[in-house]
Amino acid sequence: MVSQEVKNRCTACGNGEGFDKVAYSDDIMLCKPCILDGYEFLSAQSRQANKEEQDRTHKDAMEMVMEDVSELRKPRELVALLDEYVIGQHDAKQMLSVAIYQHQKRIILNKHGFGSQAKKSNLLLIGPTGTGKTLLAETIAALTDLPIHIQDATPLTEAGYIGDSVEDMLAELIQKCDGDIGLAESKGIIFIDEIDKLRKRGDSANLNRDPSGDGVQSALLKLCEGADVRVPVSGGRKQQAAKTQTINTSNILFIASGAFEGIDEILDKESGTKKRIGFVADETPETRVKENAGMKHVNAKHIVQYGMKPEFVGRFSTIVHLEPLTMDVMKQIITDSKRSMFAGHRLLALADNIDLSITDEAVEAVAHHAFEQKVGARGLDGTMNKVLKEFSFDSPSENIDSFVITESVVKHALSDSDSPEL
Ligand code: ADP
Repeated sequence: MVSQEVKNRCTACGNGEGFDKVAYSDDIMLCKPCILDGYEFLSAQSRQANKEEQDRTHKDAMEMVMEDVSELRKPRELVALLDEYVIGQHDAKQMLSVAIYQHQKRIILNKHGFGSQAKKSNLLLIGPTGTGKTLLAETIAALTDLPIHIQDATPLTEAGYIGDSVEDMLAELIQKCDGDIGLAESKGIIFIDEIDKLRKRGDSANLNRDPSGDGVQSALLKLCEGADVRVPVSGGRKQQAAKTQTINTSNILFIASGAFEGIDEILDKESGTKKRIGFVADETPETRVKENAGMKHVNAKHIVQYGMKPEFVGRFSTIVHLEPLTMDVMKQIITDSKRSMFAGHRLLALADNIDLSITDEAVEAVAHHAFEQKVGARGLDGTMNKVLKEFSFDSPSENIDSFVITESVVKHALSDSDSPEL
């Protein structure tokens, strides 16, 4: 039998006088401090159990992330594969491969619930026309199985103007994903070429503003940052009464690209160097590469001075520089890459049962002629078509089984100034 005095004491700590007590049963009496201690003890135990459960889930999820990531092509492997399609541009290939690998890891982290901790980093490619900016982006997207939409910035207009709206780009990306918005949202890439054409024009970036370029940059801002955007279901807004759907752009990777012609003057002004002005008679691919060396130092500040909005430039945290093509690279583009232009012509001739070949001297002559056009490798295609114009016309009707493109064939074809490039 428990005495009345013992009954009035806390069963746990033994305190009696001056404590609020709660009787749990005939035999148990607890004071408030002990009740609070007990409550705190049980809560801590439950918190610990929850944390252990969370850690276990987190660990399981991270293990799944690592498993998925282990299947990705690593940057080094990506560069080796890019080498088969794109000649030269080693630094750009490395930077792009790392950026795309990080992007793919972000996609996987998102899938397993870690998304908010890994922010995307849009890319800006800078380099002369025809040096492989679009080719690199297209090729790496294909190698990594990421859907890409390539868009020229020049027809883009602000909403309400005639032209392509920035929302149309997203509709095109969704189309590339066969209408799968989830795929477009999680893995999509939008490549915007000639982004420099959106700059504010005029000597000073604040004078003679180009309202459409400026407005398009503003419209692109929210897309690049990440927003819910309503886009027409299919066929763009030109289709009347098109239904709309919402796409979130937070995880879409934006790659902007441009030649930024004349930006070297901003660099020269900064460093106090004088630029050679006017026609450069002794220009060669090698001197062009040398003259361009400073372009590697182009940074966000220069791009803003060039006329791009600071907020816009701020959305592109990785800048990748591409070099002008050397004569060696131009020659390799003709004959060496997997999609080399000569391989294409050779295949077409083979379909007529003709063995088409080209001598080294002829390759050199084609490369020289293309160099004069100042449009990088873009000039090669037209030059080669011009060289092959007569052959392409005559050979299908003639009974020949082989044809060699020699230097004199090239010179003869290119000296004919009336002959248009096909
Ligand atoms: P831009 O830098 O203006 O985006 P592109 O990537 O569109 O140039 O190149 C135009 C064409 O020139 C390509 O389709 C490709 O045939 C050829 N080309 C350009 N650069 C390279 C390169 N580095 N390697 C192989 N081909 C190239």
